[in-house]
Amino acid sequence: MAALLYKILGYDESVTTCDCCGKSELKGTFGVERADGEILHFGSVCVTRHTGKADKAIRQEAKDAIAQRLRAANAELRIHPAVLADEVKMAELRRTGAPVGKSFMEAHRAEWIAAEAARAEIAAKHGFKPYQLGS
Ligand SMILES: [Zn+2]
Repeated sequence: MAALLYKILGYDESVTTCDCCGKSELKGTFGVERADGEILHFGSVCVTRHTGKADKAIRQEAKDAIAQRLRAANAELRIHPAVLADEVKMAELRRTGAPVGKSFMEAHRAEWIAAEAARAEIAAKHGFKPYQLGS
């Protein structure tokens, strides 16, 4: 059955056109993965039709999928070498009694920039904005 062929990946406000019926200017769309791996975006009417699920169940699944992806992204960020290097550097600064504030920031600026680049990269890979990821 067609109802089993789609996995709900989340809800995306940046995609406002339904891949099924072409309706545009939607508030957002549900990202779904078809059995063949193709990612599509459906409006709320079409996503119900294709999955055979109730609106409420779909919204919950989208929410769960996003939360799960965010956890995965955060886990990846925590063990990224650039992030770890920045933590090591900051721990070192604290140990040596570096004053908190602007000079502290300056003292680990290079590491911080690398860690922020890692954050941006991981966020993009998982479909998030950098600020949505924890540290
Ligand atoms: Zn549609």
